[in-house]
Order: sequence, then C-alpha cells, then structure tokens
Amino acid sequence: MDDLGHALAKGGDQVRMLGGGQPAHIPEMDALWRQRMECVLGEEGALEHALGHYEPPAGNPQFRKAVAGLFRRQFGWDITSEHVGVTAGGQTAFFMLFNSLAGKFRDGRRKKVLLPLVPEYIGYANQAVDGGPPSSDGRKDDLGLFRAVKPRIERMGEHQFKYRVDFDALTVAEDVAAICVSRPTNPTGNVLTDTEIDRLAKLATQHDVPLIIDNAYGAPFPNAIYTDATPVWNDQIILTLSLSKLGLPGTRTGIVIARPEIIRSLESMMSIIGLANTNIGQAMVTPLIESGEILTLSRDVIQPYYRSKSQQAERWVEEFFDPKLPYRIHVSEGAFFLWMWFEGLPITSMELYQRLKQRDVLVVPGNYFFFGLDDDPWRHRDECLRVTFTMPEQAVREGYRVIAEEVAKAYAEK
Ligand code: PLP
Repeated sequence: MDDLGHALAKGGDQVRMLGGGQPAHIPEMDALWRQRMECVLGEEGALEHALGHYEPPAGNPQFRKAVAGLFRRQFGWDITSEHVGVTAGGQTAFFMLFNSLAGKFRDGRRKKVLLPLVPEYIGYANQAVDGGPPSSDGRKDDLGLFRAVKPRIERMGEHQFKYRVDFDALTVAEDVAAICVSRPTNPTGNVLTDTEIDRLAKLATQHDVPLIIDNAYGAPFPNAIYTDATPVWNDQIILTLSLSKLGLPGTRTGIVIARPEIIRSLESMMSIIGLANTNIGQAMVTPLIESGEILTLSRDVIQPYYRSKSQQAERWVEEFFDPKLPYRIHVSEGAFFLWMWFEGLPITSMELYQRLKQRDVLVVPGNYFFFGLDDDPWRHRDECLRVTFTMPEQAVREGYRVIAEEVAKAYAEK
C-alpha cells in the first residue's frame, strides 16, 4: 500500500508498476464484456434480477448448473450443480477453506495446510484467523497454518530453471488437514506436471485429506497456460477457479468445484460472512459457459495474448541482461509473471527491490512467497524477484531494462 501511495504521489505514469497480478485489458475481451453488459441491460428483467436479488449463498442456480455442465461435457467429470459453489472471488474461497479445514480448533488441536512446493501464492499468507501477529521480516508468520516444503531446483541451460516437487521431502503428517497448490503457480509461472499432480492426488487419497488445486490462471479458463497440463478433479480434490483473470476481477467471482458437503459448508460460511455473493459476473458469463464460448475465447484470445507477453518479456531479459551474469528465469509455463533468480547476489532481493523502487520500478521481492517454512537460513529465498509482464509494453520493457542494470551493479559489488 505504501508503494501504491508512492506511485500515485508521483503521478502514476512515471512508475513502472510490475508488482501486481492485474489482468491486461485485452481489447477483444473488453469489447465482449461491454457487449455482455448491454445484453444484460437489454434482456427483460435480467438487470433487475442481477442487481435487485439476493441469490442463494452458493450462487445463482443457472450459473452453477452451467459450470457443472461444462466440466461434465468437456472432461467427463461426474458432477452436478451440487458440486459447484460461488464465492466472492477466489481469495475469499481460500480464506474460508483454510480457516475451516486448518488452524487452531476448540479442543486445542492444530491442523495445517501442506504446501508441497514453495514459493507459493502470497495471497494465502496471513489468512489465518488465529495466526498471531506477523513478524516484520515476513518469515515466521503463518507457521500456525502452513507447512511448506522446499522444491528441487532443476537448472536448465545457462539461464533457466524449473521447480519440482521434492517427493522425498514431502510427508503428510497426522496434523495435515489439506494439501494446496496453485497451478499455474503464482509467482513462478510453474505448472506442476500431470505426474506431480497425480502423485499429490494419490497422497491426498491415501491420507484422506483434500487436495486443493488453485486454478486461477489454469485450463480450461482463463487458460493463461503455455504448456500441456490436464485439468483433473475427483472426490478428494477441491478445484478453485475465478472469473478474475478472464478480465473480470471487479466482479469478484470465484468458483469452487468439490464434494457437495464441502460446497454446503462453504455456502454456510458465505451466508454468515457475506449473506450472498455478487451477481453481475455470473449474469455476464452464464451464456458463455452454456454455449462453450468461454473455452474458445480462452484458447484463441486469452492464451495467445499472454503467451506472447511472456515470450516478449523473455526476449527483453535476453536483450538487457549480461549473459555472463548467473541470472536464471523460471520456465514461463503460465500466469502473468517472470520469476527471476539471481544466484549468489551480494544483496538481498529486498534490497534490490528498494533500489528498483528508487528508480520507479515496482516489483515484488521473492522472500514473501516462501511462507510456511521453518526459519532455517536458505539463501535462495532472498535471491528472487517476481516481475509482472501484463502491463503496457513500454512500462514492462523499461522495467526489465532497469532491473538488468541494477542487478549488474549489485553483482559488481562483490
Ligand atoms: N489464486 C492465485 C494463484 C492468484 O494469483 C489470485 C489472484 O491474483 C487468486 C487466487 C485470487 O484471485 P481472485 O480473488 O481475484 O479470484
């Protein structure tokens, strides 16, 4: 928030805001939303219903039915509308899921969410209602709710790498209440392979805990995914989706696909916390889900758009970074960011972030994404940056150029 204030004080334009997960304004998608809004306005009673009704807390029945139908047709999943629940954005779904499954219970037991691979989505951190005060270094908080496992790091060529789940280090202890991954992963752009997901699903079944798969960027929508990955669901899996990365974050619409009893418990929580959800996103998107158009849009418009942004960002990195420096970029398999690793950098990513801020480039230092680990010193978590590539081209290009300069300077300080 401080950074946002700083950027606005400078007049906004000067600052290259490469920190957030804001979807781009894709012209075709913005035109479609305008058109869909006009249809809602034009259809008799549609606007009045969307604005003037409390829908049931699990969502609009037609929307839930449409979502179930899409996944049944497309992937053969044995689900009905009872398996589909709506929340006020994916973020709210995680708050409710984590706090109902894990944390401190009345009888004194503590349950954890196991993160099989960190770095993981920063938005999961600090969600525990009983999490205690976060520490100033951003490290010790969330140990009450999360237990995370470091990844295996696979170096690829001179300047790339990929994280893999370290199954040798992954144990599902008695106190684990759920396993959770984002796929594609925010911040890294990693996409867990089908084999990794299959092994995690088997572990979840074996230990009778849910496997939560956060599909905010994934297939079949919004499909900001640049590699092959099969969407999966079974009774043990809680799959979350969102309309945000389609370009509708302002509608705050999350979707959860899970066993009916889990949907019913989310429904109860939703009615207590918020009474009902927002309706407008569901009203705008239901016909696109019913017709299947959401799939073709995701495949033919959204995916190529972000794939080309990702490739362009990689080309700028290649252009601006000194090839002799030991920088590495995580393979960009999905989502909206490049995840950069500067091995052996003489300063921390936090210091690098400060220097970049001085030059009007805002990024997110990597240390924030390694929550849920115990406090052992692991240099890697202070060597990474998350840099968005969805902002206007000029800002992204300039941002990467400045990062390359500051990184070269920092290595020269050795
Ligand atoms: N999960 C991941 C991995 C995300 O990156 C985000 C947002 O950036 C969310 C969930 C939550 O998105 P929303 O609440 O807008 O659906």
